[in-house]
Amino acid sequence: MKKDTYKIKGMHCASCAGIIEKTFKKTEGVSLAEANYGTESVKISFDETKTNPENLSKKIEPLGYSLVTETAESMGMSAEEHAAHTGIGQSKKEKLAEILAMRNTVMSAIPLAVISVFVMGWEILSKYGVVGGMGDVSKEFFHHLMPLLATYVLFVVGKPYLLGVVRFLRYGKANMDTLIGIGTSVAFIYSFIVSAFEETWLKNFPNVGVTYFDVTIIVITFIALGKYLEAKSKLKTGDAIEKLLGLQAKTALVIRDGKEVKISINEVIHGDFIIIKPGAKIPVDGIVTEGESYIDESMISGEPMPVHKKTGDAVSAGTINTNGTFNFKATKVGAETLLAHIIKMVEDAQGSKAPIQALADKISSIFVPIVLVISFLTLGLWLLFGSGPLGFSQAFSYGLVSFVGVLVIACPCALGLATPTAIIVGVGKGAREGILIKDAATLEKLHQVNVVVIDKTGTITKGKPEIVDIKDLDESMMSVLISLENKSEHPIAHAIVTYGKEKNLPSQNVSNFEIIKGKGLKGVVNGIEYFAGNTKLVEDLKITFDRNIIEQYTAQGKTPVILASTEKVLGFVMVADEIKPESQKAVKDLHALGIKVIMLTGDEKKTAQYIADLVGIDEVVPHALPEDKINKVKALQAEGKIVAMAGDGINDAPALAQADVSIAMGTGTDVAIETAGITLLNGDISKLVKAIKLSKITMRGIKQNLFWAFFYNIIGIPLASGLFFPIFGWLLSPVFAGFAMAMSSVSVVSNSLRIKAKKL
Ligand code: ADP
Ligand code: MG
Repeated sequence: MKKDTYKIKGMHCASCAGIIEKTFKKTEGVSLAEANYGTESVKISFDETKTNPENLSKKIEPLGYSLVTETAESMGMSAEEHAAHTGIGQSKKEKLAEILAMRNTVMSAIPLAVISVFVMGWEILSKYGVVGGMGDVSKEFFHHLMPLLATYVLFVVGKPYLLGVVRFLRYGKANMDTLIGIGTSVAFIYSFIVSAFEETWLKNFPNVGVTYFDVTIIVITFIALGKYLEAKSKLKTGDAIEKLLGLQAKTALVIRDGKEVKISINEVIHGDFIIIKPGAKIPVDGIVTEGESYIDESMISGEPMPVHKKTGDAVSAGTINTNGTFNFKATKVGAETLLAHIIKMVEDAQGSKAPIQALADKISSIFVPIVLVISFLTLGLWLLFGSGPLGFSQAFSYGLVSFVGVLVIACPCALGLATPTAIIVGVGKGAREGILIKDAATLEKLHQVNVVVIDKTGTITKGKPEIVDIKDLDESMMSVLISLENKSEHPIAHAIVTYGKEKNLPSQNVSNFEIIKGKGLKGVVNGIEYFAGNTKLVEDLKITFDRNIIEQYTAQGKTPVILASTEKVLGFVMVADEIKPESQKAVKDLHALGIKVIMLTGDEKKTAQYIADLVGIDEVVPHALPEDKINKVKALQAEGKIVAMAGDGINDAPALAQADVSIAMGTGTDVAIETAGITLLNGDISKLVKAIKLSKITMRGIKQNLFWAFFYNIIGIPLASGLFFPIFGWLLSPVFAGFAMAMSSVSVVSNSLRIKAKKL
């Protein structure tokens, strides 16, 4: 089973997405198909033994679409290379050409539409006696000119809509183009018949000498103009990816055979030594081996301050060196780099569907056939009820106007754009702030969060504890402790091991080493079994010890690491971890959003409470084992809370998976960005506040969009059908219907673009 996302060519509207999805779902071997009009792409899972991308593309080609089957993976390229080759870079170029072509056609139609409006206006004004009537010559002139203009507009400018009609007749698949196509061509054909057989026609239907060439011209021009503006703004919604791609260096200066050579980044391999000069972009991920510098990481972390890097520090592709010179060893190249992951993730997230879209999708999928039915019904009802009071010919004329109006105004184009465009902008804005969002569903869920559960170490505190005190442990016992901690990955272990290195204390052989989850560890050194960990661990050993002295420390926010044998406590060290400077404000901001903050930690009660009080946290769960953490999340959810959990993702993994939204505090390259719902790139908890605000802004944008999109259709259909005619004498001209329709899409996309400018 293969799952991949392909760009689609030829998508014009949201109902195209529905048609494509349905076609693929009916195709043998396809288990999932999700088409997205916002990104003009489709996510498909298919059985490779039964079908392939080329065959899949053939399935939709008769309907006017095709898949871009060369994906990064199929060509063995990294996201950036692929983008440069065919992907985004190319499709953007194609898209620009397409938009230019759209512009040219629209420009050619506008003067014709202006003439139509002029003639139409003159006729109306002269009817009311505001201006004199048209002279016979000009009447005759326009009488012959209008059909010509309409022919051009319908067959050249309106070609996509006519193709929509052809597709409907051949395959029974109707999209929004079909609606517009039917509406405008019916107006055209009717007018054509009236003018071609003028004499006979007027004899039979004396009042219906009116033609609707102007309707065809103006409606198509408006819609084409709307589509052009929409395409232009849609292109802007996706510029976050483009910016990310722009971060990628094209070449790298490496040392090969002792010489400096400039090579393309595609040729950089693991272990290459890369030279970075002042102002250069870091081409791949790696570890500094020589020299030092400050690096501007703002593009991937959102933090403006350059970060100091020295030997042993990690550097990421896409960041920019300031003025130092250094060398580093490539550890991750091509598609493995953090930047490549970020790009991939943003792309995927932008193409994913928010649950809120399901309703809009459902509606737009049934909308088109329903509208077709309504439009014919409208015509029928006009004839049925209008013929009596108005006379057949007048009723037919109104009926036809209503028929065209309904078809034009009811296009659910805006409905299909409402959610995806806002998601694209929201996800892109997040990426620029160092907030990586996995999918649209996460972005949607985040705005409802009312409890945030956080881990202490590394989330509230820096996660870089240091030894602040040693009690009763001589050098040989410290050496035992260091030897044990050497085997652990815990930040506390790191503090102790670092201390040992500084003091040059020897490390000894450890056997039977074991981690005691949430409590500490144990192991045998020189034939003696030792335990190192917190008070819980010592309690488990059932040995007595002096709690008082330890509590004096924990009350000051320090964490004890007690070394014990099976019989007695040998002594302890105290470690302290600094609180991150932004923690306090982040908690305050979360409170301002009405969110409760709970801290879960494996640490001592007093230590945890001390830190919680400093930061302003509402509730603390100390001595929490991984299962306690997951149970706490479950309990909160049982109370009906929507829980977001932020953690370092190691011992917190089960609880993270349980939470409604999981947040990884990614610091640098070693982030599991694919697993967490949200990754805060530089591990800054205040970004969580921004992420929640972003979610709220995006959701508000989507709701506004959906409201306006529905509003246009709900008001537009009865108005255009002439439902209010018998009461108020209102009848919507198809010309206004075309205008409203074009404006609805444009306003939805513009509203989504506004998200970009909002302050977080
Ligand atoms: P947290 O991430 O909230 O600190 P952990 O489950 O990682 O939770 O750790 C819980 C507690 O277990 C720590 O606060 C510490 O007291 C003890 N502990 C864990 N690992 C070690 C270790 N390597 N050495 C000493 N104590 C440890
Ligand atoms: Mg932890």
